[in-house]
Amino acid sequence: MRYLWPDYVYTSRGWQRDLLVALGEDGRIAGLQPRFADGVAFTLPEGAVLEPLPGKALLPGFVNVHSHVFQRALRGQAQRPVSGRDTFWSWRQAMYAEAQRLDPERLYTLARATYREMLAAGYTTVGEFHYVHHQPDGQPYSPPNLMAEALLQAAREAGIRLVILLAAYARNDFGQPALKEQRRFCDSSVAAYLERVEALRSQGASVGLAPHSVRAVPEDWLRAIAVYSRQERLPLHIHADEQLAEIESCLAACGCRPLELLARCEVLGPLTTVIHATHADQQELALLASSQASVCLCPTTEGDLGDGIPPYRDFLTQGIPLAIGSDSNTRLDPFEELRWAEYTARLRYGERRVLVAESETSPGAYLLACGCEHGAAALGLESGRLEPGRLADLVAIDLEHPMLQGWTVESLLDSLFFGASAEVVSAVWVAGRQVYCR
Ligand SMILES: [Zn+2]
Repeated sequence: MRYLWPDYVYTSRGWQRDLLVALGEDGRIAGLQPRFADGVAFTLPEGAVLEPLPGKALLPGFVNVHSHVFQRALRGQAQRPVSGRDTFWSWRQAMYAEAQRLDPERLYTLARATYREMLAAGYTTVGEFHYVHHQPDGQPYSPPNLMAEALLQAAREAGIRLVILLAAYARNDFGQPALKEQRRFCDSSVAAYLERVEALRSQGASVGLAPHSVRAVPEDWLRAIAVYSRQERLPLHIHADEQLAEIESCLAACGCRPLELLARCEVLGPLTTVIHATHADQQELALLASSQASVCLCPTTEGDLGDGIPPYRDFLTQGIPLAIGSDSNTRLDPFEELRWAEYTARLRYGERRVLVAESETSPGAYLLACGCEHGAAALGLESGRLEPGRLADLVAIDLEHPMLQGWTVESLLDSLFFGASAEVVSAVWVAGRQVYCR
């Protein structure tokens, strides 16, 4: 058994001073133990190791719910003009060109470096929404999950916890076959897709279902994948309502909006996470709330792509849990990602302090819950909080970093989310094993 002894630990009761975090052999938190009782130091069990962390505070590791790791290659590149008036759709052309260049080796190299960058930023888990499955002409590799296996290998070597959200893809849009550059995303049938899901699960990988979007996946696939998700208790993630054009084509083809279509196909439920939901209307938000689905926001990517500002206040008042994702991986910093959520919400409503938990007066605690606990729930993981029995995924914050100068126990979370970057992360543990140290 090892005991971490930082200055402060953030628990469900807020910041606690001189608390020992016991790391069990099983990769979970074995216990939280005051270092001193009545001025007397706790006697460690025989053979236990004490690791003092002076000047540090421990937080749960951040959960990056939505990543397309290969898009890291577009950082800086995709900011250049693609057309006269660039939008999400012209960005997508640049992204497809990069997707065409991928092979298992390139994907592995890119993913390993990017997962290391995520760890250094304080993300201990990544939900990898993976859709570049097959050879560029659409022929499966042998074995058919070769690309997914490259990601699993990269995550193992980097030391990050990975949930692979295996994407299902069938077509370009309602009633339109896949474009040439989409062929490598597509499976021949939903049965072939679910076979690949089963194959990955039999290798011991953490897997989630990820029908790409209502554009890319027909109704019969959506229904079959939703049934499988419920039967096997696996998370189901899907992009929806990111772009107005998607909503228009859904209305034209199906007579309803994307989240209404998902409700009709019985896709929405407590295992479901909708990515973006930027343009969800009141009826769609009510469907999300009543089904207990979550929403994953990707504020830096949504800003980069000009998607729009999501209806934050409605998410909060309807009790819809929010998580975050780095999505295109142009920026990897959970503090910045969460700051952007609050700041864009302020810009939308013309008010300050929008993302505030009921029991709080400032956003820090709610932003932390979005970054950790809600993200863990969206990926079906027992992490996201520092309490006995949870996965021992932790980050240490350097309290002596100049960015945090002047912090107090009352202001520390807000100092982190409004005044700091991932530079303040000094060490990271995944499953109790230290995987990063500055
Ligand atoms: Zn995405």
